[in-house]
Amino acid sequence: MSKVLTTCPYCGVGCGVAVTANGDAIQVEGDPNHPANYGRLCGKGMQLAQTLSPAGRLLQPHIDGKPESWSRATAHIASRFRQAIDRYGPDSVAFYLSGQLLTEDYYVANKLMKGFIGSANVDTNSRLCMSSAVAAHKRAFGSDTVPGCYQDFEQADLVVLVGSNLAWCQPVLFQRMMAAKAKRPQMKLVVIDPRRTATAAGADLHLPLQPGTDLALFHGLLRYLSRNAACTQQALAQLSLAQLNDYSIDKTAEITQLPLESLTTFFQWFKETDKTVTGFSMGINQSVNGVGQGNAIINCHLLTGRIGKPGMGPFSITGQPNAMGGREVGGLATSLAGHVDFADSDKRDAVAALWGSDNIATRAGLTAVPMFEAMAAGKIKVVWILGTNPMVSLPDTELVRRALQTCPTVVVSDCVIGTDTQRYADVLLPAKGWGEKQGTVTNSERRISRQRSFVAAQGRAQSDWWALCQVAKAMGFASGFDYRNEAEIFREHATLSAINGGPFDISALAQFSDHQYQQMGPLQWPQPAGKPLQLQPQRLFSSSGAGKIVIDHPQPRLGQGNFIVNSGRNRDQWHTMTRTGLATTLGRHRPYPQISIHPDDAAALGARSNDLLQLGSDILAPITISQSQRRGELFMPIHWSDNNSSAGSVNRLIDSQYDPISQQPGFKGARVEAKAQ
Ligand code: SF4
Repeated sequence: MSKVLTTCPYCGVGCGVAVTANGDAIQVEGDPNHPANYGRLCGKGMQLAQTLSPAGRLLQPHIDGKPESWSRATAHIASRFRQAIDRYGPDSVAFYLSGQLLTEDYYVANKLMKGFIGSANVDTNSRLCMSSAVAAHKRAFGSDTVPGCYQDFEQADLVVLVGSNLAWCQPVLFQRMMAAKAKRPQMKLVVIDPRRTATAAGADLHLPLQPGTDLALFHGLLRYLSRNAACTQQALAQLSLAQLNDYSIDKTAEITQLPLESLTTFFQWFKETDKTVTGFSMGINQSVNGVGQGNAIINCHLLTGRIGKPGMGPFSITGQPNAMGGREVGGLATSLAGHVDFADSDKRDAVAALWGSDNIATRAGLTAVPMFEAMAAGKIKVVWILGTNPMVSLPDTELVRRALQTCPTVVVSDCVIGTDTQRYADVLLPAKGWGEKQGTVTNSERRISRQRSFVAAQGRAQSDWWALCQVAKAMGFASGFDYRNEAEIFREHATLSAINGGPFDISALAQFSDHQYQQMGPLQWPQPAGKPLQLQPQRLFSSSGAGKIVIDHPQPRLGQGNFIVNSGRNRDQWHTMTRTGLATTLGRHRPYPQISIHPDDAAALGARSNDLLQLGSDILAPITISQSQRRGELFMPIHWSDNNSSAGSVNRLIDSQYDPISQQPGFKGARVEAKAQ
């Protein structure tokens, strides 16, 4: 009975997990040596063993509802791809991936589509999670790089959390920060969130701002800092103060609907505290102003030079286990593998040479929402969806339904059977799940960790990279897809990372043997070849003038209705509950979907606790009356769908407006019509 060290499959904290498997008896505990969690696990992580049930698993390939062999299924998919490409061109096919995939799966999918099919129509549900932070990083630093590490949350004297319910969504990082705060009570926590969340309840100052006004808040802070704080000359020289004329502290208080006194306190604390970290998450990214808001936060750190040093910096907190790893290998339609831009023809040629490809995509492909719009318009003839359930997770469910109904061939790879999306699938492929598959993931602090297998795959489930290689070979691309194992894929990815170099360079890991890959411990990038492996936390962009100040004007969020609706996670559930729903302990926290509403709004609607509230024409769920809500705003969790409740998915209410730069949908702050039933 030996311990297998692996990584939790849920949130972007990327906690290390030690698993002891003795036949069917599986014991899960935190890995005391993993730098993300040092032995801690949250409730979801602790119940991982309960989720390894064979119940509900997709066990073999299916074509048109009938069980099939892998060889027939992959030959069928290959012929559909080939026919569409020959007849309509490479942009008539698409992959839609997931932050749940391992980096090796992501790498092979991208290589096949961008390197060999010759289209960049590969996007991922990570588009819905952090693509606005990606674009903000690129505008500020010239690269998609989180400058800091988790230790900064412990070393800071002021932590500002914006649009992040860290206590529920990334609980172990929250625990680490609060443990540091307990030891140093002078450390302050400011939470900027319309709701009084569990995170806000632990804050020294909660700023319940009007949804969608974060840009104004940080422009106001930037203006205040430029007049009152010690600023770096390089950043100050970039600043056009005329752009901030509309953001005096009084005007900012008016726009954000925050008390002037609270706002002034926040601005003063920020001004006075060198060691300041600003963590931002979905409340910032999932907005039609997501990129501008990300830059507005980064601006304040650049102006004060608080970046890349212990306890200082802006920090994008990712939601999914491998949102960062997908970005490394080109999981977004907007870049090639190794963070190489399509426009950089020298580096693009270098990627093509490494892949042995003469058909590499030369321009960005369709991002998530435009991809489904193109499908609905009949322009995409084959789509392969891996590890995600867009019928629930994308906004504008009706668009997604039309898209999947219109697309002639829909292939879905998943661990479980019967998801909302699978209703529209022509081909189903069984994927290995957590504990069965092998590979790497990268967490929010750029740390690559191994996921390792410790149980046999259920049924005929296979790794996604293997399925992609089978299809690639059946399409005639044998030479680039003959991998023996995950280690070979990882070495190629690490070799390719040197093409862009800089912060993304992990080429030192390209030398790892299969055995070293198996033994590999958690490592933060960069890890360039020719240098000893760096095991201490690494910070980037500390030199003055390392970033660019970018100031945007807000985009209006259009829509009608008597309430603003926000959505998010519950403490003990993960996405559509296909895994966490198997753990009975986790179900006790919030057993059914509820809409949170302020008491005054409930009274105005004539509704009492547990009465049904109808949102739009589709959603009907009981209310919970809560002082944590602002008046005029509702909150509904994301976990339920047509498949697991009669309430329906909250994303049915969300239209497909998105940030014009990142094309990340604006899940937050949509207007809806609500009435009591
Ligand atoms: Fe897993 Fe996130 Fe909980 Fe860590 S904090 S155990 S990664 S869900």
